[in-house]
Amino acid sequence: MHSLTRPPPAPLVPIGHRYSSSMLLGQLADRHGRVARDLRVSLTDRCNLRCSYCMPADGLAWLPVEGTLTDDEVLRLLRVAVERFGVTCIRFTGGEPLLRRGLERIVAGAAGLRGAHGRPELALTTNGLGLDRRIDGLRAAGLDRVNISLDSLDRARYARLSRRDRLDDVLAGIAATDRAGLRPLKINAVVMRDINEADIVPLARFSLERGYELRFIEQMPLGPAGEWRRDALVSADEILAELGATFALTPAVEPRGAAPAALWHVAADAGQPGGRVGVIASVTHPFCGACDRTRLTSDGQVRSCLFSRDETDLRGLLRSGGSDDDLARVWRGAQWGKPRAHGIDAPGFQQPERTMSAIGG
Ligand code: SAM
Ligand code: SF4
Repeated sequence: MHSLTRPPPAPLVPIGHRYSSSMLLGQLADRHGRVARDLRVSLTDRCNLRCSYCMPADGLAWLPVEGTLTDDEVLRLLRVAVERFGVTCIRFTGGEPLLRRGLERIVAGAAGLRGAHGRPELALTTNGLGLDRRIDGLRAAGLDRVNISLDSLDRARYARLSRRDRLDDVLAGIAATDRAGLRPLKINAVVMRDINEADIVPLARFSLERGYELRFIEQMPLGPAGEWRRDALVSADEILAELGATFALTPAVEPRGAAPAALWHVAADAGQPGGRVGVIASVTHPFCGACDRTRLTSDGQVRSCLFSRDETDLRGLLRSGGSDDDLARVWRGAQWGKPRAHGIDAPGFQQPERTMSAIGG
């Protein structure tokens, strides 16, 4: 039986560390000793799937177009993040980021940014629909890495879970990304009780055979309000037990740092290549103590935590003539108030009003 119970990773800045004011100015720190270097940017709240753990079947009321940041507004905030805070990784997400017409332009603009740590790494999280037609342009624009969501290899189960019969399109997107040579190519899979547990081993085999890194994600309370049930959760330990019945797993020895996934090495076997597989146990083994993320929604709100119930508006400041100094000061203030932990298991936990698609996963 494999378990994720391991010593928690050390925070990036030791708790209790005394900051100098110049340190605080040059980075996005919070009062619990963490520093954000990983920016998740949602480019749209719209999506062409309706994954049941993320969105209601009828979709949501989309944000009005005029409320969404323009390409230039997004690029200005990215510049502030890289130049002022030393952000080292920008991940474009959504909703479905491929629905954003200006994606290639935004990626190209971001690729030209330089901060204290050089050029930021540029990553994309996508459902893969239409990626086969865009990947070469995105790569040329400067995209470094792609995570593609794939919850099932069974056409009927995929359609049931995402409420759209689009498995072939996702597989085409994965194959095209593979051909384009972007590495590591990561596959994200959310496991839901009685829906796609049977996909755990086939998804692992599919990924290992192709040299992809699979990440199983515990379902979080970020979908349609009132639908998540803690007692129905397929936990990371259950996922590992299922994998361990087929594959020889050993915990990875590489330091995990701020990465959300705990990694496991899979030994090569007769007819089965080895590789790595990860499990993101946000619910049962939270990793908040090492979190290095800050988030920007498509309407220009900073969220210091995925589960924040409050947001800080940068769009109003952008549109009322705020300077880069103003934007940096307000963003820094928002991050300073980042909660110590998401508190999913705390008695008073309340799900955020926005669902995952509107926050940016
Ligand atoms: N549409 C893109 C996609 O599906 O990859 C990007 C946005 S989606 C919100 C980002 C990631 O969040 C996906 O891998 C998705 O599976 C995951 N996700 C969405 N809702 C979730 C939930 N309630 N719990 C855990 N992961 C979730
Ligand atoms: Fe869309 Fe991604 Fe949410 Fe699925 S997980 S509904 S693809 S935003």
